[in-house]
Amino acid sequence: MCGAVKILIADDELVSRHLMKAALRDMGYDVVVVDNGQDAWEVLQEGEARIALIDWVMPGLDGIEICRRVREAGMLGYVYVIVVTGRDQTEDVVAALDAGADDCVTKPFRPEELSARVRTGIRIVMLERALRETQDELRLIATRDELTKVWNRPAILRLLEGEVNRSRREYKPFAIALVDIDHFKQVNDRLGHLAGDVVLAEVASRLTSACRSYDRVGRYGGEEMVVLMPGCESDAAFDVSERLRCAVSACDILTPEGAASVTVSVGAASNQDRLNVSSTVMVRAADRALYESKGNGRNRVTIATLAHWE
Ligand code: GH3
Ligand code: MG
Ligand code: MG
Repeated sequence: MCGAVKILIADDELVSRHLMKAALRDMGYDVVVVDNGQDAWEVLQEGEARIALIDWVMPGLDGIEICRRVREAGMLGYVYVIVVTGRDQTEDVVAALDAGADDCVTKPFRPEELSARVRTGIRIVMLERALRETQDELRLIATRDELTKVWNRPAILRLLEGEVNRSRREYKPFAIALVDIDHFKQVNDRLGHLAGDVVLAEVASRLTSACRSYDRVGRYGGEEMVVLMPGCESDAAFDVSERLRCAVSACDILTPEGAASVTVSVGAASNQDRLNVSSTVMVRAADRALYESKGNGRNRVTIATLAHWE
């Protein structure tokens, strides 16, 4: 556990610096040592040091200013700051804590007290790290569709909104594809709903593998998926959509109840000539194109034309 937390020591006094370093290194911590405030701030900005032992009086930035900057920067991952100082008046301690320090150690310090205070810091940092990981996991659960593991509807719609805005801001085209499984009801009827679920998950997986790393696949609803394709004009949207369509139908999908031969119909729309359209208008145009793919015999791609936008 010790090695997992990096500790910064910043002090302009050689002796005090060495004492701190020796006390902590013997305990197996990964320690970085600097002798001025500016270097300390630079190390902290790299975002790896989680515990900082900061001398109050140093050339460049002093310890109090560093505390303020750390708190103002709102870094990802808590930095536990211990101010090390020759000042031991109550008002000095209050000033350091008010500036954002978590703790103060008075010089001259005893190595065992210093390491005990560092251990307290490590407990806090570890706790915060665990909380953040849980939060990330929860966020992932909240944004994923349980069955298919792709983005769920609220998440993909949020991403869609972001991509449409970005496209407008950067004057770069963006395309959306709606992908609907053909005659999926028949798959359910023939193999059962659970096998249908397997097919649905496999279709999502094939779509994900077939698109580019910066495209995003989401479950729009039921057996309909949506693919966001940043940077795509209509021609590129057609090519990507064709690749998606072929990836799904390339070979049978095996389920415990038997094999299913599955195709998809796709409707895609690029905003290349109309960067100002809303996400709703894009979805509607893609949906109309999809409807046309269905009407023309399924297992095909239709790119939105003028009529689809009206
Ligand atoms: P089309 O080619 O016109 O799209 O025909 P379709 O049968 O795919 O379309 P329809 O809308 O008639 O039926 C969709 C079916 O998808 C009905 C519904 O039960 C099924 N479905 C939707 N969500 C799920 C799911 O999560 N699991 C399973 N197994 N089936 C689902
Ligand atoms: Mg000093
Ligand atoms: Mg369908």
